[in-house]
Amino acid sequence: MTLQQQDLGAEYFRLERDQIMARIAARKEELADRLLILCHHYQQQDLFQFADLTGDSLKLSREAAAIQDREFIVFCGVHFMAEAADILAQPHQKVILPHLDAGCPMADMASVGAVVRAYRDLLTAQVVADEAALVPATYVNSSAAIKAFVGERGGSVCTSSNAEKILAWALGRGEKVFFFPDQHLGRNSAMALGIPEDEILLWRRGELLGGNSVADLRRARILLWDGYCEVHMKFLPDQVRRWRLEEPDVRIIVHPECAHDVLKLADEYGSTEAIIKAVSQSPVGSKWAVGTEVNLVERLHRTYRDRQVHLLSSSACECTTMDCNQPVNLLWVLDNLAAGRVVNQITVEPEIARQAAKSLEQMLAI
Ligand code: SF4
Repeated sequence: MTLQQQDLGAEYFRLERDQIMARIAARKEELADRLLILCHHYQQQDLFQFADLTGDSLKLSREAAAIQDREFIVFCGVHFMAEAADILAQPHQKVILPHLDAGCPMADMASVGAVVRAYRDLLTAQVVADEAALVPATYVNSSAAIKAFVGERGGSVCTSSNAEKILAWALGRGEKVFFFPDQHLGRNSAMALGIPEDEILLWRRGELLGGNSVADLRRARILLWDGYCEVHMKFLPDQVRRWRLEEPDVRIIVHPECAHDVLKLADEYGSTEAIIKAVSQSPVGSKWAVGTEVNLVERLHRTYRDRQVHLLSSSACECTTMDCNQPVNLLWVLDNLAAGRVVNQITVEPEIARQAAKSLEQMLAI
């Protein structure tokens, strides 16, 4: 059942920012050890300041699962992150999303129905000998249903920091890997492993055999679902060139959800955690242009005043769906919890959770 965001009511929208902040702080104190607030790096500072744990999606879910005495896990992030937290949480823990419209457009680009059809078409076209030869792998930025599809078939989840390792493992298990949903993370990782470009094929949704010939599909070793992150697609090769021209001593670091044309011009690439580490460990006076979500870049800018940290692009690169979570929504869920009502709870059906957990465990085993 798809939940719909309830109207908060006029009283919440009349509140000033300072009132909202003060009331969140008071509710947090009141709920004390019953509550754990998780905050993804891409959330705005007004939410970030209330976090008990911060990090990327999987790190947060795993750390939250280890804190078993907290009854309520409020995840300031997007829907797939809350699903992953629910899969890893204890049965008595309830995972809550501040705003139900906080989804990930990239995760939504791979529906389980479309993925099942793609598998069926590949098998009908005899692109592989049997289903076991087509190993699925999915980025953690995917729905629980996709993770379950992958887990059921012995595949693995990956993160932006271990995607190359997971792809190498998957290639050792079968003839081909089908990677969901981010084509760019898949392509960047495959190319880093030295796989030739003509063995990496894009599967275009809605086209017969993903827009490929049977001969090309038989030759390919990596099939990429055609999903992408709208935020990271805003970083362009010309932005890198302009920085190099105007600031020759700048170091450029980008997230692997960026297109390969951008990645190959950058000095470094890495996950959000890797980007934070690179900037924090750089010498005082270093100059950075960073290709990832603006809230993280601005936080790095404020935290490391003795370095220069800039957004690679001159236009806003904000995850607008994650930004549906506003402080007023956090206050609303906390007010409800304090009144004994659980709102916006994210639950994953037990069988989906069981299969999805297999794909997460596979990644940890690798
Ligand atoms: S930044 Fe991109 S991948 Fe991350 S949650 Fe937003 S849309 Fe999804």
